[in-house]
Amino acid sequence: MSRALSILKEVFGYPDFRGQQAEIIEHLVVGGDCLVLMPTGGGKSLCYQIPALLRKGVAIVVSPLIALMQNQVAALNEMGIDAAVLNSTLSFEEMRGVEQKLLNGDYDLLYVAPERLLTRHFLDLIAQIPLALFAIDEAHCVSQWGHDFRPEYNQLNILHVRFPNVPRIALTATADAVTRKEVIERLALHDAKVFLSSFDRPNIHYQIVDKVNSKQQLFSFIQTEYPRKAGIVYCLSRKKTEEIAAWLNAHGIPALAYHAGMSSDQRAQNQEKFLRDESCVMVATIAFGMGIDKPDVRFVAHLDMPKSIEGYYQETGRAGRDGQQASAWMAYGLNDVIQQRRMIEESKAGARFKQVATKKLEAMLALCETTACRRAQLLGYLGETIAFTACGNCDVCLNPPKTWNATVAVQKALSCVYRTGQQFGAGHLIDILRGNRTGRVEQWRHDQISTFGIGRDLSIKNWRAIFRQLIAHGLLTTSYEGYGALCLTDASRVVLKERRDVFLRQPAEYKQLERAGQKGDELLVRGSHEQRLWDRLRDWRAETANELGVPAYVVFHDVTLKEFVRQCPQTEDELLRITGVGTHKLDKYGGQLIEILRNAECRDS
Ligand code: ADP
Ligand code: ZN
Repeated sequence: MSRALSILKEVFGYPDFRGQQAEIIEHLVVGGDCLVLMPTGGGKSLCYQIPALLRKGVAIVVSPLIALMQNQVAALNEMGIDAAVLNSTLSFEEMRGVEQKLLNGDYDLLYVAPERLLTRHFLDLIAQIPLALFAIDEAHCVSQWGHDFRPEYNQLNILHVRFPNVPRIALTATADAVTRKEVIERLALHDAKVFLSSFDRPNIHYQIVDKVNSKQQLFSFIQTEYPRKAGIVYCLSRKKTEEIAAWLNAHGIPALAYHAGMSSDQRAQNQEKFLRDESCVMVATIAFGMGIDKPDVRFVAHLDMPKSIEGYYQETGRAGRDGQQASAWMAYGLNDVIQQRRMIEESKAGARFKQVATKKLEAMLALCETTACRRAQLLGYLGETIAFTACGNCDVCLNPPKTWNATVAVQKALSCVYRTGQQFGAGHLIDILRGNRTGRVEQWRHDQISTFGIGRDLSIKNWRAIFRQLIAHGLLTTSYEGYGALCLTDASRVVLKERRDVFLRQPAEYKQLERAGQKGDELLVRGSHEQRLWDRLRDWRAETANELGVPAYVVFHDVTLKEFVRQCPQTEDELLRITGVGTHKLDKYGGQLIEILRNAECRDS
């Protein structure tokens, strides 16, 4: 293991292993198979990259994502590691070139797309050379139930059949037990050791706000917390992604759209821009995301509620891979609840599917409405036993929501539903409660009923929050016929009959919360000298990355730049002690960096 540690230090420039990395590497180096379940940003890649360098032969890495492979290989090359990609973007000649080098034993790692790997040509080719290991990245792609399903992944057990002595490592950030079982089955990993990490992402701050004017709310969130930073905004519809992107651009926040309805060229182009740019917001449907390994995504915002906690966790997990402070922010309202329920009701799937989907939605709603720690609820749902009740880094912990005794209002709302025959949506019901004589109210003579005007004391916003929570708590449900018509449930009948007290959450306004380790780089960049140095380093990094045609983070991560500013190293030895600086990068950039740092006068200030 001392060899693994010295590679970590010299090549990658990191002082210590994280989490289970050391154990996994040790297991793989001696030829054991394993399945690694680790959250996004946990550091999965090192688990096979270091064994690839330690074992004889080339490591074959299977990955479903072309853009991801290319950036990973660029990052490895930057560290002086011999790695290459074999996928459909190469010309015939280039492919031949790579194959020749492969046969010559020139590579430590080769990244291939699954369809290429499975060709007889390729399998025969690698049968002629020593193989260090097989790494199967994004292993959850074998799961037919997930939306990342890749049919080729199901044939990857051929690796085991054909090369029984080559160790395999499968990796995924998908936590649930069902997927885990499927991966083991389909990849024939029955004898593999399973390394399961906690799925907590402590650097991600969770915040869910009441939706009022979501565009404006999003704007203030980005503007106050992450101006000029990279982020992802998820929306449900293609049209909305384009609308929001245009709106952000018009308001001075550079944004791009991404959805499955765009041409694949356009999508690839926008993705590439997002990966390279340090301060771009991507407004996307969930078609965007798997394998986005951009480490400096500072926030993930949801303008529409995801269908399930699994989805929410996966999407928000794309923030803060570099371990630096990041946010998961969501605006959620009554319409989200109704829309999601309607989508389930209207889907053509069978009863079983609808039942499962409803359960998942209910769990998601419970997370939105919780008055306890979001992180505890999230991890509990993912099946983790948690040792804390308050994480200290979510909106609920930092700003505990107030509850109020809403019994009277709830009774008014429920009896209004009852008196109108359980055939109307929240908008109409609120009109009645607030005594609003609309055409529709008059048409149905709802100004004649006893609940007309009995809720004038509360605003529309308050009533919407009440209806939303009634649905979330199962005191109202949407009917199968009729658009969003609300009906009573068994639970609401009990509340009405027994006059039981109901406490609801008071609307939480958006508020910037003071939290541990907050303020990203600004916190570290205190004086004007430091600010100048930081800007100078960022410019240098952008130029360098541009020349190489790679994303800036491939040259150095933000974390490394911050340490340059903080420690202001003046010699090669001092540079090497900084996280993210390995010997190769030192040789390549040490001179330029020392020049910048010596001119920075940071030490005299
Ligand atoms: P995953 O694939 O699990 O999402 P990555 O392998 O991309 O995670 O690693 C996430 C980030 O953490 C990367 O930027 C990587 O360089 C960094 N990293 C990984 N291991 C370590 C370590 N031991 N020390 C410091 N940084 C690390
Ligand atoms: Zn919390």
